[in-house]
Amino acid sequence: MTILVVGSLALDSIQTPFGRTRDDLGGSAVYFSAAASLFDRVNLVGVVGSDFPQEHLDFLTSRNIDMRGLQVAEGKTFRWSGRYDYDMNTAQTLDTQLNVFATFHPVLPEDYKDSEYVFLANIDPELQLEVLSQVRQPKLVVLDTMNYWIDYKRDALTEAFRKSDVIIINEAETRQFGKTFSLIRAARKILELGPKVLIIKRGEYGASMFAAGHDPISSYFFVPAYPLEKYQDPTGAGDSFAGGFMGYLAKAGPISIGAMKRAVVHGSVVASYVVEEFSLNRLRTLTHNEIHERYEDFKHFSHFERFSDDRRPQSQVWADLAARG
Ligand code: AMP
Repeated sequence: MTILVVGSLALDSIQTPFGRTRDDLGGSAVYFSAAASLFDRVNLVGVVGSDFPQEHLDFLTSRNIDMRGLQVAEGKTFRWSGRYDYDMNTAQTLDTQLNVFATFHPVLPEDYKDSEYVFLANIDPELQLEVLSQVRQPKLVVLDTMNYWIDYKRDALTEAFRKSDVIIINEAETRQFGKTFSLIRAARKILELGPKVLIIKRGEYGASMFAAGHDPISSYFFVPAYPLEKYQDPTGAGDSFAGGFMGYLAKAGPISIGAMKRAVVHGSVVASYVVEEFSLNRLRTLTHNEIHERYEDFKHFSHFERFSDDRRPQSQVWADLAARG
């Protein structure tokens, strides 16, 4: 199934404790497309300026990404500059230059309008709504956003929430939108607007999924983040999480809570690779085998047995653990 995405294509300048980049490839739609195209075909809608390097366009076309929805406008490409300290969970925005995004309006090629899977990546919620008004009968609409739009475009964002099936946002944004410290209460407030599922990204602590309804077994699902020793740049982790999530769902068939749980794990796997290197570098080389390996590891991280006593002598238990090295 083809996935439609609208979002930013950017030139990012990033600082982390491990290095810095200047005007490197970035943007919510770019990270999403590069991740989702590992699973299925992506139709990309967005805008770049006349300064956008040809090599970046070549990279995107070399993937499973249809670029007919991309506009190239006279002027400069959207630029974002951000900084992370050792707590890599929160980006500090240093500068945002909308440039060609300031006058952009998405125009969907005719065949994109029949897309069944739609991802509204982080951009102005008014543009997200413009895309939705052009799509005919989507099967699944997933939306991401950020604190900036909660502050400045709350009404349009609320309307976009109402029209979406799944919302993917981070922990601070959930509290900010819900205007409460309780994550559960904030999640309920968002679900009451209409979405069936809310996924909260929690950086190095993983991701939590909340489904509408009050049955604890089907309403909550939590995955840890992959334990990483190499961690260079968290930029794009959220968008590639969404790419892995939606790519898996589009490929896997019927949408159910079970499929969404597996999709959350796929999202976590892809994001865990992206943060190992700056910009999209790790996504360029990521293979299906690597995705599969970490997916299997995730199963072990969260699996535990029903009640049972370990009746071996304590010394034997410690000896077994020590033997693992
Ligand atoms: P994330 O996955 O949340 O780390 O998203 C990172 C990407 O979001 C960067 O590559 C930025 O170019 C992009 N970005 C940052 N601010 C905005 C914004 N206001 N609108 C659209 N995209 C943005």
